[in-house]
Amino acid sequence: MSLSRLATTENIPAAATATSAVATASFASDLKLPTIINDYQPIWTPCFTKNYGDLRLAIRSYSIDGKPYYLAVDPYTFQTTCAPMTNFSHRRKAEQGPGYYTHEEIEATPYVQALNRYTREPYILQNHGATHAEVPVDGVFWTIDMCPSVKPFEKDFFQALASYSFTEVTPIAVCMTGAWLIEHEKEFHELTEQARNKKLAITWANHSFSHVYYTNLEFEMNFLLSERTNLSEEILGVERELIKRNETPSVFARAPGLVTNKTVIEAYNRHGLIPLGSNAWLAKDEKPENGSFILVHGNSNEPAGIKKAMEILKSRQFRFFSLPEAFAKTAETKKDAGKKEVSATIEGGTQKTITPS
Ligand SMILES: [Zn+2]
Repeated sequence: MSLSRLATTENIPAAATATSAVATASFASDLKLPTIINDYQPIWTPCFTKNYGDLRLAIRSYSIDGKPYYLAVDPYTFQTTCAPMTNFSHRRKAEQGPGYYTHEEIEATPYVQALNRYTREPYILQNHGATHAEVPVDGVFWTIDMCPSVKPFEKDFFQALASYSFTEVTPIAVCMTGAWLIEHEKEFHELTEQARNKKLAITWANHSFSHVYYTNLEFEMNFLLSERTNLSEEILGVERELIKRNETPSVFARAPGLVTNKTVIEAYNRHGLIPLGSNAWLAKDEKPENGSFILVHGNSNEPAGIKKAMEILKSRQFRFFSLPEAFAKTAETKKDAGKKEVSATIEGGTQKTITPS
């Protein structure tokens, strides 16, 4: 590989957030960790909200004080929620029949379709995944990487984002690493306070736990591709740190260095994470246009990108959108399709089943 590729600055993790709250004690009043979570692990199971019977996919399970919880995604909006497992049913409420679902119904949801679309071949070494909106949007998407760093964060940049509009909250995706978060507790708290004050709407994207980066290795042996990497822990570790702090991980992942291979992409698929690339890495002089996923580092290790980001903010040429708005929401199976009579394969035989919404 070329030296220029090796010279890429990649030091800030970006985080994506989901908007729903974790059902744990508030973290707003102090900096102590509010929650010890146990047995955090990937899971994949359809379930339904008890209140309204809406479909969710639980993608993580864990426990707090022995009480089981899910991290669940709405497969139509891509929004995630952390909630006690008792908030969900594992079968639909059905006027008749057992309330089963079909594999086809789940696979046809917009979230699962996007997950499969962005985790299939070809597996390219850098910038695999969604790089821009797949639906027309009149604006752009901030994806801000927060790789490990010994410097303070880009406070002025985040403040400029927070104050961009007097009337509207500014949506951003922050691609977070566990290492940055743990070493910058106070700054992380400042970010979350901006969200609680309705200045920022943060989507926490998964930028790995430790974000290993050797300055002298080829991409093929670097970042998540480096030897002895515990892929599952790199993915789960940062999510666990977010949930401890009352934040909700999203279904998006930005690989460190944007460097992946088949093994990493398949791991993202198994963990329900949609990989994010970028078509507007500002420090590389890539120009944003409507629909762009703008990549900038918020950890003070890529000042050239921040300079351009501030110019973009000053020019007020773009509106900003949250990541879920980048993905097509149309699906073969609509949200109310449960009211239709569908054919379901149950215990080896096909039979007609009524599947109420
Ligand atoms: Zn990074």
